[in-house]
Formats: sequence, C-alpha cells, structure tokens
Amino acid sequence: MKKHIAVIRGDGIGPEIVGEALKVLDRICALYDHEFTYTDVDMGGCAIDKWGDPLPQAELSKCLDSDSVLLGAVGGPKWNDVPGPMRPEKGLLRLRAGMGVYSNNRPAKIWPQLAGASPLKQSIVDKGIDFIIVRELIGGIYFGAHNTIEEDGETVAIDELRYSEQEIERIGRIGFETARKRGKKICSVEKSNVLDSSRLWKSVMHRLAEEYPDVELSDMLVDNCAMQIVKNPSQFDVVVTENMFGDILSDEASMITGSIGMIPSSSLGADSCGLYEPIHGSAPDIAGMDLANPIGTILSAAMMLRYSFDMAVEADCIENAVSAVLDQGYRTADILSSDTGCIKVGCREMGRLIIENMKRE
Ligand code: NAD
Repeated sequence: MKKHIAVIRGDGIGPEIVGEALKVLDRICALYDHEFTYTDVDMGGCAIDKWGDPLPQAELSKCLDSDSVLLGAVGGPKWNDVPGPMRPEKGLLRLRAGMGVYSNNRPAKIWPQLAGASPLKQSIVDKGIDFIIVRELIGGIYFGAHNTIEEDGETVAIDELRYSEQEIERIGRIGFETARKRGKKICSVEKSNVLDSSRLWKSVMHRLAEEYPDVELSDMLVDNCAMQIVKNPSQFDVVVTENMFGDILSDEASMITGSIGMIPSSSLGADSCGLYEPIHGSAPDIAGMDLANPIGTILSAAMMLRYSFDMAVEADCIENAVSAVLDQGYRTADILSSDTGCIKVGCREMGRLIIENMKRE
C-alpha cells in the first residue's frame, strides 16, 4: 500500500523523537511491502524563525494534501515573548481547525513492565488498564457564547453549552468505530440527570448503537466515571464523551499510567486523514541531549497505521516490539526506576532497539 505522510518535527525534542518514529515506519515498509513517502512541514517556533508565521498556508496545505500527519511537539522558551496570534501553539490550533479534526483520542494504557510508575494501588493495576478516551474537540461549552454582564448590581459570567444531534452523531461514530477495532465495548459518559445536552447525547448514542450491534454500549454519569477511572479502570475499553468532560477525564486517565513520554494520541475528523502526536510537549529542558523517550511518538505512528490506514497487524508489530524492549529491561531516563536493575538508554538507542525487535507477525 502507498501512503503519503506529512511530518511536523517541530521544536525542542520534536526532531529527535519524530526521527525515530520515521525509522520505525520505514521498517514497517520493509517488513510488509508498503511504500510510505514523507513531506516535511514547518510548524511552531521553527516556522516562526523561518517564515515569521507558526503555520503558513503553504505548510498547512502540505498536511491537507497528505494521507495523515505525524507531529512531534512545538513551542519553547525562545518564543515565549512572541505576540499571541504568532505563538507556536497557534500553529497547532490552526492545524486542527484546518484539518477539521473534531475527535481527540487518547489511550490510557499501563504497560505491565512499568506498573510501578502508576500512582494507583498494585491490586488495581494488576487487573490491567488499557482504554481510550474519545473526546469531542470543537463543540460544547468551550465553543459556546461567552459573556460577562452586570446584573442587579453584581457581575455575572455566562458560558453557553450546546450540542446539535449532528455534532454528537459524528463523534459517536468515531467512538463506535474505535471500539470495533478494539475490545468492542463503549461507555458513553454524560450528565443526563442534570443537562439537556447530555440527555440528547445519550439518546443519539443509543440510536447509533442500533447500527453497531457488535459493540456493547453502556452509559455512565461523568462524576461516577471520574471515580471509576481510579477505582476500577480495567472495566473500560472506549470512553466517548463531550469536550469539557473529556478534557478533564483524559488528563486524569493519563496520570494513572505514570509516564507522559509513553502516551500517543490521535485527532480525527470526517475523512481518514488524522493527526497523530504524543501527548507531551517539546521538553526544551532535554532537547538535543539524546535523553527524550521516543515511545509516545512511535506509538502515535502505530495509531496512524491502525486508525487511518487500517493496518492493524502492522500496528500490532510496533506495539509488540515496544513491549519486547521493555521486557528486556531497556528504559529511557524518564521511565527508569533505580531499584529494578534496568538498563538506561538514550532516544536513538531506544529507537534502534524497537526496530531490532520488530518482526513480521
Ligand atoms: P513538556 O511535556 O514538554 O515537559 C514536561 C516534563 O516532561 C519535562 O520535564 C520534560 O523533560 C518531560 N518530558 C516530556 N516529554 C518527554 C519525553 N518524550 N521524554 C522524556 N521526558 C519528557 O511540558 P512543558 O514543559 O509544560 O512545555 C514545554 C513546551 O512544550 C512549551 O512551550 C509548551 O507550550 C509546549 N507544548 C507543546 C505541546 C504540543 O506541541 N502538542 C503540548 C504541550 C506543551
């Protein structure tokens, strides 16, 4: 299969971690007879330095012309004093808007080899934690009308929360399709005991469920979900929820895994062209030192294969290689604990070891 990938290396550790992920994708091509071609895209601080703009239109167009986009991270102290609309992070917002991605998908997975890094009790971790939060990204209370008014002698702030059936249906479909590619269970999270928007959310999810008889749907109130994520996270496969609930729950879920450097993410819209990136930032404190953990980016590349290119076997190949390297005791500094006798490696060596362990399934 031929695929064309736009590559945003970005700033800080971005070029280092993306470099390793590209080598992993090249290995997939060799093992499975695919052809991936890459176009470099300038975004973030490096684009400000080169073009005076964090994402010039010509660079955005390269992303829109591709089959998928792989991103490292953008930003850093060098651009802290750049005025608001020209900040590196604005490039990211423009990219998401330009690509029309309305779904952010973040796995919360504890690798058994790193279980000790989780803040949860061992007895909870031992049951296994491996779920995805599918969060609506461009609707809800963050995008409703905001107003601050004077009323009866005091200041009143108003934030509007609205969702249309169509907005709920399109994110719901991503949730159900994701569940189809995983454990075939989806939990719809809302606050239907209080909010009209949540009651609509729930009814749309149940209507959609009729189209996905192979996927088991359950409902959960958001306050209960926040408790269940720390009490019994092994019950979840896919969690689908609206923007603000997802914002909060996905941060909670990433904390229980214990390592920011290990977590990939995807953002998807109406077509299969998605944006894949680790959840961490550009880590300027360790940039250029060969200390970064490339696994979050390498697993983002695996998500790209699974969700944009329908290459589940190839995605498994990458994930199994990561697991094998962790089994062998290799760790980058961020996931190394002193008491385990593990072997400390740098970013490049971690990438090399993962490639060495990739086998055709
Ligand atoms: P950060 O995620 O970059 O770093 C937080 C801490 O985690 C640092 O100590 C860093 O060294 C460590 N860390 C992060 N990723 C790591 C990895 N792969 N391997 C090993 N250690 C890792 O967050 P921050 O320091 O708050 O932000 C730094 C810059 O990144 C800021 O300019 C911020 O705006 C930007 N940022 C960008 C994105 C993005 O591009 N999507 C996301 C978040 C932050």
